[in-house]
Amino acid sequence: MSMNSNLSHPYRYLFISFAIVFVGGMGYYLWRNKRKVLHINYRLFDSKDIPGSGDCMDRRLIRMLIALEKETQLPIFKWINSGARSPAHNARVGGVKNSSHLIPLCQAVDIHASTLEIQRKIAYTAKAIGFKRIGVGSNFIHLDIDEKKRQNITWGYPAGNRPPFNPFAS
Ligand SMILES: [Zn+2]
Repeated sequence: MSMNSNLSHPYRYLFISFAIVFVGGMGYYLWRNKRKVLHINYRLFDSKDIPGSGDCMDRRLIRMLIALEKETQLPIFKWINSGARSPAHNARVGGVKNSSHLIPLCQAVDIHASTLEIQRKIAYTAKAIGFKRIGVGSNFIHLDIDEKKRQNITWGYPAGNRPPFNPFAS
């Protein structure tokens, strides 16, 4: 006796319909999540001394970086110089004591930017996206979303120096 013989016609079609919707829905869900996972490699944000630590990165910051990459058409994720930092790593690279890069806050990134033109493009687009804190280094742009610090500010390096341009001026 097969299972089919117990299912009258209307139920059989109902069952098949549900099965198709369920399998299709699962497929769509997995496809979407795979795309999300594949897009972001959190290892790019690792503190150099702690493999896997880049997982701590603030997800709102990551979403803003995805928007930044889309808007600028620049390989922002390939150009991440620094994301998460352990206190030891932060000290080694000369970060400030209350750095927004520090684990577990993980709310800052440094993006390699080799020319003034690229720096300007990243900084002005970042401001348009909603970044409110922008540091301009000699060959990088620092962005953070630390709301405990002063907002709508641009600075140069060493920290406190005058930046070459200021998206928040005027
Ligand atoms: Zn930084």
